[in-house]
Amino acid sequence: MKIAIIGAGPAGLYFARLMKRHQPAHQIEVIEQNPFGATYGFGVTLGGPARERMKATDPEVADALAALMHFNNKQRICLDGEDVLVEYASYGGAIERLKLLGVLQKACLDLGIALHHQRRVDDLSAFAAYDLIVGADGPNSVVRGTDPAAFGTHSYSLTNPFAWYGVAKAMKPNALVFRHTKDGVFVGHYYAYKSDMSTFVAECDAKTWTQSGFDRLSDPERKSAIEAIFADHLQGEPLVENKSIWRTFKVVVNERWFSGNRVLIGDALRSAHFSIGSGTRLAMEDALALFEAFSEHGEDLAKVLPRYVEIRKPIRDLFGVATERSFNWYENVRQAMAGGDVWDFTHDFLTRTGRVDDKRLKDYAPSFYADYMRRKNADARSAAVQ
Ligand SMILES: Cc1cc2nc3c(=O)[nH]c(=O)nc-3n(C[C@H](O)[C@H](O)[C@H](O)COP(=O)(O)OP(=O)(O)OC[C@H]3O[C@@H](n4cnc5c(N)ncnc54)[C@H](O)[C@@H]3O)c2cc1C
Repeated sequence: MKIAIIGAGPAGLYFARLMKRHQPAHQIEVIEQNPFGATYGFGVTLGGPARERMKATDPEVADALAALMHFNNKQRICLDGEDVLVEYASYGGAIERLKLLGVLQKACLDLGIALHHQRRVDDLSAFAAYDLIVGADGPNSVVRGTDPAAFGTHSYSLTNPFAWYGVAKAMKPNALVFRHTKDGVFVGHYYAYKSDMSTFVAECDAKTWTQSGFDRLSDPERKSAIEAIFADHLQGEPLVENKSIWRTFKVVVNERWFSGNRVLIGDALRSAHFSIGSGTRLAMEDALALFEAFSEHGEDLAKVLPRYVEIRKPIRDLFGVATERSFNWYENVRQAMAGGDVWDFTHDFLTRTGRVDDKRLKDYAPSFYADYMRRKNADARSAAVQ
């Protein structure tokens, strides 16, 4: 098969690798607008079950990724002056995005896949002779944009502005810091992804954006303001930038996942909000599902593409609901913070997507669950006495 993959992010590279590894005769080209060795952002998290599925399919790549990961199971939830340390039952892994792409690029090059960097695709005319065109080109997908009606694309922007920074040290433990200032509410989310680097995502709500004057500041001024707001956590470390522009998140959903010989995977298919920390693995698992459909049905696109949807859509829909609940929780973060009690707030945060209820929380974050319930029972007893 002659396959063109637009976008050399985690989804596109992983799909290229799986297809070529399975069938070396495939002629696969990956086209990427960025230069080799460049990307946006810092470190990303990769969940355990996804890593196991990847290991079962391509152990070489899974092991290479695991060797570069930083594992952790603790997270501080801070609400103004108070905080709770949550210890999760399972460990999450984080990896530098550039390193992850490096592993996948090497895995592709080892198999003879052509990677074309610094080549932006603006229309699909150059790919008319290809059997399959894969849109792995992120939330602003050109492949999808060639015919939004065919894909049934719906998209809109959230209202909370955010920016993705780094910090040149391992900030431990991971933390989510929710803070009232005189100008509104700010959120700082950080986690270490290697021994000397952390990701730091800063966010505020729409009201704060204008009330605090952030809307009128330049990006360097915003960076300084965030450093001042979270100075106690940063302890003198400046924020590091990598295309760290303040923007709002674009929500993208498609009713149809393929049209003719064009198919969507990763953020091009459905953008995953960063608050669920799963966009990378969802993108790679889309690639895995599309590959599985090819393994089942050979090169018969009329069977492969519907099978891809059948395998993957139920899970994607579940995550879609969780993602929506999560970003809506953040869109209303001011209200969530209003209660003021860090324990109730943490409980609200941990159960915000609906995927974790009290029953699951007991296994998901056992010590937090036990402490929280003890406090609730004590409160109920003292209320009964009064
Ligand atoms: C602030 C922030 C924090 C995040 N944190 C996490 C996290 O902790 N864990 C996690 O799992 N996910 C996280 N994500 C989400 C994650 O980055 C994405 O979900 C993931 O990268 C999607 O992979 P992808 O391959 O579908 O798309 P991308 O990684 O976006 O790759 C698409 C590629 O296509 C290229 N491209 C686009 N258009 C064209 C074109 N016209 N021609 C050629 N090339 C093109 C782009 O340059 C890019 O390299 C975060 C995202 C943000 C914004």
